Amino acid sequence: MGIFKRILLGLLICTVIFCIGFTLWLRDRYVVPIITYHHVGIPSVGKYRLNTVSVDSFKYQMSFLKRHGFEVISFDDLVEGLKKGHTFARNTVVIQFDDGYEDNYTFAFPILKKYNLPAMVFLVSDKIGAPGFLTWDEMREMEKDNFMAGAHTRHHVYLPEVSLAQARDEIAGSKTMIEDHLGHQINYFAYPSGGFSVDIKQIVQEAGYKAAVTTNRGKYYFNEDLYELKRIRMSNTDNRWSGLIMWFKLSGYYNLFREAKDPGLKKKLKTVY
Ligand SMILES: [Zn+2]
Repeated sequence: MGIFKRILLGLLICTVIFCIGFTLWLRDRYVVPIITYHHVGIPSVGKYRLNTVSVDSFKYQMSFLKRHGFEVISFDDLVEGLKKGHTFARNTVVIQFDDGYEDNYTFAFPILKKYNLPAMVFLVSDKIGAPGFLTWDEMREMEKDNFMAGAHTRHHVYLPEVSLAQARDEIAGSKTMIEDHLGHQINYFAYPSGGFSVDIKQIVQEAGYKAAVTTNRGKYYFNEDLYELKRIRMSNTDNRWSGLIMWFKLSGYYNLFREAKDPGLKKKLKTVY
């Protein structure tokens, strides 16, 4: 064999070894995407702008999931699967909402119902029934169609900046209040603005929650820890470029490209509108 052929063969073997190695490395880093929304409505309204996905965009994003054969599972199924070390199909997705705005009932719920997609909304319990927020009746109706409630504190406080006693009241108090109104156990919690600490995580566990979600905070980047599951915030512009951003966000490898953030990052408290 000539020297040229030997070099070519060597390169080929290296490429194959690299590809196998890379595939194995990626396999362990796949994360079921948990996509997150806040408002669904009219995005041009000033303070809602960044948190709002228009009704048309939301429709597009939900029909995208259907058209491309994504399997949307409930958060229950995700958490149970993660606990058992289950390998999820590569087209699995979870849908969530934060804060409990009334537009979730008005605009998102009919679309989710039409496509028969399960979802979860994390409620700021003391805001339920206030203008712009869901009512208990709406929440009860949504739960009949697999749009389930989780807890997101009583007043949307930024937990790393309050006393542990107050954090406990916010975390356990919202759970009790939602359970009293909906008549079933509330198992999941979302940290406001994703902020937590070791102590806060422990309070969440002690309050009886089975899992908690953050944003891109914390060190467990591949959802190894049930009390700091990473989520992907969806935006109004994800439909651009024929859904290319959607593919990327739903790929299961989005976390590889995100910056790790301190869970208790000093941050100005985000107001709930
Ligand atoms: Zn929130």
